[in-house]
Amino acid sequence: MAKKSKFGSMKRYGVRYGRRNKEKVAALEQEYRFTHICPHCNYDKLKRLSVGIWVCEKCGVKFAGKAYATPKKQKLKQEEKKDISESFENFEKELEEQRIAREEARKAREEAKAAEAAAAEKAEEEGSEDLVEESVEEPTEEPKEVEA
Ligand SMILES: [Zn+2]
Repeated sequence: MAKKSKFGSMKRYGVRYGRRNKEKVAALEQEYRFTHICPHCNYDKLKRLSVGIWVCEKCGVKFAGKAYATPKKQKLKQEEKKDISESFENFEKELEEQRIAREEARKAREEAKAAEAAAAEKAEEEGSEDLVEESVEEPTEEPKEVEA
């Protein structure tokens, strides 16, 4: 099996300039072509202004990094970004579950309200009969007190 070439983008120089140099520059160019993520706003809008100077087109922050790459922490940032997206998906799922639970609770509350309203109607019907009876009874008692 043929040995895998480490030259990558440096294949464009053919047989010139030597193996060591081409391998080193190929590694640099590969890193340079990564998507570089801003350490301040996490957008992948970093541009290399000059040797070692990086500018974010999103938030405008300017800072010193490597000549052709952002500092090593940037790779960690990329992993963190994956974690963030995963956690965000989890967060959306949690939100959906919460919304479903809230709707169920609302339905239960509406059912309870409907049951209460039905019970109240029944009670009113019963209570109105009681009130009628009481209203009939009360006037009969009051005149007695006045007389006494
Ligand atoms: Zn930024």
